[in-house]
Amino acid sequence: MNYDVIIIGAGPGGIFSAYELTKKTDKLKIAVFETGNPLQKRKCPIDGKKITHCINCPTCAIMNGFGGAGAFSDGKYNITNDFGGTLYEYIGRQRALELMHYVDDINMSHGGQGTKLYSTAGSQFKKLCMQNGLTLLDASVRHLGTDINYVVLENIYNELREKVEFFFNTPVERIEKAEGGYKVFHKGGEDEAKKLIVSVGRSGSKWMEEVCSSLGIGTKSNRVDLGVRVELPAEIFSHITDTLYESKIVYRTRKFEDYVRTFCMNPNGIVVNENTNGIVTVNGHSFEDPSRKTGNTNFALLVSKHFSEPFKDSNGYGESIARLSNMLGGGVMVQRFGDLERGRRSTVKRIEEGVVRPTLSATPGDLSLVLPKRILDGIIEMIHALDKIAPGTANDDTLLYGVEVKFYNMEVNLSNRLETCCPGLFIIGDGSGVTHSLSHASASGVFVADEILEELL
Ligand SMILES: Cc1cc2nc3c(=O)[nH]c(=O)nc-3n(C[C@H](O)[C@H](O)[C@H](O)COP(=O)(O)OP(=O)(O)OC[C@H]3O[C@@H](n4cnc5c(N)ncnc54)[C@H](O)[C@@H]3O)c2cc1C
Repeated sequence: MNYDVIIIGAGPGGIFSAYELTKKTDKLKIAVFETGNPLQKRKCPIDGKKITHCINCPTCAIMNGFGGAGAFSDGKYNITNDFGGTLYEYIGRQRALELMHYVDDINMSHGGQGTKLYSTAGSQFKKLCMQNGLTLLDASVRHLGTDINYVVLENIYNELREKVEFFFNTPVERIEKAEGGYKVFHKGGEDEAKKLIVSVGRSGSKWMEEVCSSLGIGTKSNRVDLGVRVELPAEIFSHITDTLYESKIVYRTRKFEDYVRTFCMNPNGIVVNENTNGIVTVNGHSFEDPSRKTGNTNFALLVSKHFSEPFKDSNGYGESIARLSNMLGGGVMVQRFGDLERGRRSTVKRIEEGVVRPTLSATPGDLSLVLPKRILDGIIEMIHALDKIAPGTANDDTLLYGVEVKFYNMEVNLSNRLETCCPGLFIIGDGSGVTHSLSHASASGVFVADEILEELL
């Protein structure tokens, strides 16, 4: 064994595992293998001028590299068991919350100090939501912002690189059992470790499936969330975002009794492209730096789809719908809410005449040609429900970008130590299907590192 621990993936899960392992001891030899680039070399070529659409780089600068999918995110660390994953089902609610606070402390001591922690506790919006058929979920939200999130990652990396061997641009191709541990195969050869932590996130989902199948690790299908990103003048939501920053609001539709929820709110932010396995979908960011703030707020409205027999490929379903929008729009599509309700496509002229200036260059089109009716009906109903707590949400000029898809990895069968049926092989973060947020993925990394430390030391 040339390493004690090998970590695959340098997203929040992998980073916090490495951090915890090195913080508690200097006796372990640790390597991190990462498909993407180091942080400072991560640069998406889309500049809106010369390159306007995804050119399918060998590794996606947005999804791969040190910091993982979260590196250029809005850096919202939601401290809650109500959403962001089901880590608490494995390690208990109390421990999960403690670890999320612990991660927050580390972020604060690495450049995040001074950023705001918002909370729904005692907020008057809970009542306002209830009165209008909406439910506000409980959470504390640390908003680092894209810029401070970058600084925190940079500081953690500078500390870690002294103690951990990083191998960038080195995707792990295969894992095999070896005597007393595991062997990983990559373009530079092969390495062995006593313990293996796999934290490959959503971008590693297909690879994760292959690993599970080759090692006989059980999995089950997860859900897919589909919907749109809403962009409107920041003033419309400012009474909510100034107090809560991020609010997770759930609505049960009258027509189908489906749940529609808000997701990833970015006050004064920008709408961005996201590339998952070559499919371009939409997401949102916002910056802590006042000079980079815009006049718009954006958030997603999503509907979850679960499938049972005989169809199990929820992600395949989401991908097909995203592909359809890419086929019609050449990428992400944008439509005015008024045009959607009138059953007509948006055009460049109609968007230009509107009061909301789009922050993402997207193709004006008709989302009703892309999203299934049931999902679109739910979204329209929720926009009208939100209009009651934030008047103006249902204005004609509100922009809807599509499609937004949240892919979830299949759920890997894990013990309550997040260990697979192969002893010493742990799967954490979004790649395990257990988490789908920065805070939960990071917490799962710390948790597994502590479990390994207990065994090795
Ligand atoms: C644009 C965007 C904005 C977001 N905003 C937020 C937010 O504000 N708040 C929030 O809570 N969540 C947010 N998320 C989600 C959040 O980023 C993820 O939940 C989180 O990053 C998951 O961490 P992870 O370590 O499990 O996986 P990832 O961050 O996906 O990291 C996995 C890493 O593994 C690497 N990898 C994959 N396969 C291999 C392989 N075979 N060999 C070696 N390396 C491999 C990848 O390159 C990647 O760097 C956002 C996501 C995106 C894309």
